[in-house]
Order: sequence, then C-alpha cells, then structure tokens
Amino acid sequence: MCIFCFEGTPRELVDRLVDTNQDWFKRHFTEVLIHSEDLAVPEWSFVANRQQYKARFFLQALEDHAYLSNHALGVVDLDLFVPDLNFIFGSAQFGGNAIVALPRLRQSFYGLPNDDTIFFQRTVKEVFHELGHVMGLRHCTNYCVMQFSNSLADTDHKPDTYCKDCIRRLE
Ligand SMILES: [Zn+2]
Ligand SMILES: [Zn+2]
Repeated sequence: MCIFCFEGTPRELVDRLVDTNQDWFKRHFTEVLIHSEDLAVPEWSFVANRQQYKARFFLQALEDHAYLSNHALGVVDLDLFVPDLNFIFGSAQFGGNAIVALPRLRQSFYGLPNDDTIFFQRTVKEVFHELGHVMGLRHCTNYCVMQFSNSLADTDHKPDTYCKDCIRRLE
C-alpha cells in the first residue's frame, strides 16, 4: 500500500502513523510506503460557497497513482465533503483506495486548545476505519473501529482496533 500526502499535510504525522503501526500495516498489507512527493490539491475540488473540498476529486487523484501500488491511502489537511453530507472524516472504495481528512480531527476546529495525543488517536482510528473498508469490511455494531462515526464523539468512543468478528472477516 502507498500513502499519499496532499499539499499541506503534516508529514511528521504520517511518518508517526506508519512508525507506530508497522506491525499492523505488515499484517494487513504486504508493505507500506509513503510517497515522497506531495500530490497537488485537485483543481475544481474547492467549492467556494461551502469553503470545502469535494472528496471524489481526491479519490480520483489517488486512482491516477494507483499503478504504484495495489491500494492508496490519501491524507489531506482540508475539509472534505460528499453530496448529501455536510462533511466527512474519510471515504473509501471497497477493495480500492481511501482518503482521510484531518481538519475536523483537531480540537482547535471546535475552538478548543489543541491536543496532539487526541489528534493522533483520532487520525489512527479514521485511517484504520477507512482501510477496513478498503479491505472489504462494512460498518460494525460491536465495540470496534469499524463502527460508523457520525460525530467526533463517536470516533472518540470507539477503539482503534477491530473486533473479533471483523478480524475473522479480514483473515
Ligand atoms: Zn465507514
Ligand atoms: Zn467489528
């Protein structure tokens, strides 16, 4: 699997994500590498009246790089949305690629003091959740990272691991 940072994404966060979860990545993907160059923010993705970016353009940009690896994970420090939803923390295609958006995982987005630990935990959960979809998992009602997050409270409540049922499905 290859991780792509879109322009403006803090690379130290992505490095830390891979460093601290090497075993997990190796267990579920043959190898994980971080693409050395930032990807450009896709043209036309910005919607001025919402001050947000359309997620599908970012997934398309990942598809253009899919030849580099069987799966691609994009990390973007911009607020994304899809039609019908006010915002998304992430989006994934079953068996394909995934994208995770960082801004709403930060305490400062809600007017609170920033907390790196909480921000990192949320990032890990969103990444493992979207990669679960990439590996074919659907939403799960157990105490599991595959629980659907409607809000940040949901994300904070769920664990950063898969439940036994989901692990069985993965294996
Ligand atoms: Zn999901
Ligand atoms: Zn589960």
